[in-house]
Amino acid sequence: MSKHNELVPPPLRNDCFSLPADTHWTPVSEALALLKERLQVCVGMETVPLYRALGRVLAEDVLALRANPPQPNSAVDGYGLSHAEIVEGPQTVPLVDGRSAAGDPFEGVLPVGHAVRILTGATVPEGVDTVILQEDVTTDGQAIAFHGPLKRGSNTRKAGEDVAKGGFILAKGRRITPADLALAAATGVSELPVFKRLRVAVVSTGDELAEPGSTARPDQIFDANRPMLLAMIAQFGFEPVDMGRAPDDREGLKGFLNEAAIRSDLILTSGGASAGDEDHMSALLNDTGSMTLWRLAIKPGRPLALGMWQGTPVFGLPGNPVAAKVCTLIFAKPAMDVMGGAGWHAPVGLKVPAAFAKSKKAGRREYLRARLRDGRAEVFASEGSGRISGLSWAEGLVELPDEAMQVQEGTEVLYYPYSAFGL
Ligand code: AMP
Ligand code: MG
Repeated sequence: MSKHNELVPPPLRNDCFSLPADTHWTPVSEALALLKERLQVCVGMETVPLYRALGRVLAEDVLALRANPPQPNSAVDGYGLSHAEIVEGPQTVPLVDGRSAAGDPFEGVLPVGHAVRILTGATVPEGVDTVILQEDVTTDGQAIAFHGPLKRGSNTRKAGEDVAKGGFILAKGRRITPADLALAAATGVSELPVFKRLRVAVVSTGDELAEPGSTARPDQIFDANRPMLLAMIAQFGFEPVDMGRAPDDREGLKGFLNEAAIRSDLILTSGGASAGDEDHMSALLNDTGSMTLWRLAIKPGRPLALGMWQGTPVFGLPGNPVAAKVCTLIFAKPAMDVMGGAGWHAPVGLKVPAAFAKSKKAGRREYLRARLRDGRAEVFASEGSGRISGLSWAEGLVELPDEAMQVQEGTEVLYYPYSAFGL
């Protein structure tokens, strides 16, 4: 018998999973308001050609260098003529020689009392203000016959009716889409002022981590967070900087942070963010004096260690891949947007009926791995935050509010597709 046999484990308390009454758990909305208030743009500008601008963030408002369309043109294949000469009822108008085609305009002025063959996109010749659809005429190649009246300007596009020269086309802070490239090109803009890509370093921490592809000891797990976080950063449109895996020792981790601070504008670490023996991230940030351990009223997640390392902000994410992803989407993504010049964006969710039932307690916001099927939100069978399969199964998150909530099948819940976060 060892003397330790006298030790009695403490009884399990009924409320062992409830939030401590004496601690302030920061609500998600409060944490977000603080980030919004305290962060600012921290990247410079550059000019890039259209073909390299997709997904970049505009650093200035962009104005049209040219009107769209630049000249009046025809919206259809048909015949152009002067509205003043069109009468009510059936009529016949002779055709001039020649035609106006897109890129091959009719030269000169249309003689009075005539019509001219005109094709879609072709410049409307002088003397023409109205186009009649070819389906509405009969012709022998010499003249056209049709029924009046026609509306003045029918089937024509006016110069600048879409965008005027000098008109506003794209706003500073906008993330450039394929359609934006069409708009810029159409209005004579061939390069765009953008913010330099925010460089975001990713460090995994933990002695239990092995590199995917390596031979892992039985007690090791493969580093799942790094490939995920690097890929998320790239999909957000920022520049991922892979810093590898740091050991669970303070000196070693310091070296990684020093290097990351040189090579990036923002550092994301995962693991070691709580207040345990091996939680070196929070301990190191604490030493700098800039550390705030955010005990967030969020599940999954909870402790998020925020601090500055040699002038570079650090988000110390929880190690659990599910919590790491959720905290990245909810907290780090909006922070990256602000720092990268895109401004603050709250994700846009959808209210949909639940395909599940759940009794949620008050005191923290919860995010469930979810997906939409038949217009209803399904959630992953297990809420365990180590269940990486559920992250991959999910196509978005259901957000349950800070307050208590009884969800029945059919109860309206808030669903955010991953795309709402830019994924
Ligand atoms: P920690 O926050 O360091 O206490 O880690 C919490 C849990 O997440 C532990 O089970 C870790 O083994 C796990 N974990 C930490 N980092 C990673 C990672 N990069 N990939 C997969 N699991 C991780
Ligand atoms: Mg750890």
